[in-house]
Amino acid sequence: MTEQEQKIEMVNLARSLFERGYTVGGAGNLSVRLDENRILVTPTGSSLGRLQAESLSVLDMEGNVLEGDKPSKESIFHLAMYRKNPNCKAIVHLHSTYLTALSCLENLDTDSAMKAFTPYYVMRVGKLPVIPYYRPGDSNIARELGERALDGKAFLLANHGVVVTGSDLVDAVDNTEELEETAKLHFILQGQKVRYLTDDEVNDLKNRGK
Ligand SMILES: [Zn+2]
Repeated sequence: MTEQEQKIEMVNLARSLFERGYTVGGAGNLSVRLDENRILVTPTGSSLGRLQAESLSVLDMEGNVLEGDKPSKESIFHLAMYRKNPNCKAIVHLHSTYLTALSCLENLDTDSAMKAFTPYYVMRVGKLPVIPYYRPGDSNIARELGERALDGKAFLLANHGVVVTGSDLVDAVDNTEELEETAKLHFILQGQKVRYLTDDEVNDLKNRGK
């Protein structure tokens, strides 16, 4: 894929997320690794429904702007994750309804905010560690995500939203959609007796994925 094609793909995926209600206003940001030294990221304050390819920000790994508009202030945690994990090729950060609702609950299991009750959650994401609350844009979010970038594919930011990685931008978006759906089911099932997948069933799914 050329860089121009990558920019157009980001614009189209962001618009699709916006039009289906995964994000509202200027919330949320997407990024993708262009090469070892540069990432493409959505600009600050921009609606994911109205991005333009030529405005997308190109940054080096230190966060210097090489092309495009000023990046999202949350790009610092994207960079921290790319620097730590070479296999991380794309990141989606949303304040989507059900995952954000989940992030506001007290007493979440910080190792994983949701136990597995569908195979798709296990195969796509596996677990959802929780990062403690910090003000949006606080450098501690970048520090924590950077430290834990090798621990999983997705992270819940307490009282804020979700951060999901992927092998490319389409994969990261698909992982995000699966995770949001899982959170929706989690709330639909609240108060019901859920049959969670057993450890053997979870391990079987993980082994087949290898
Ligand atoms: Zn945010």
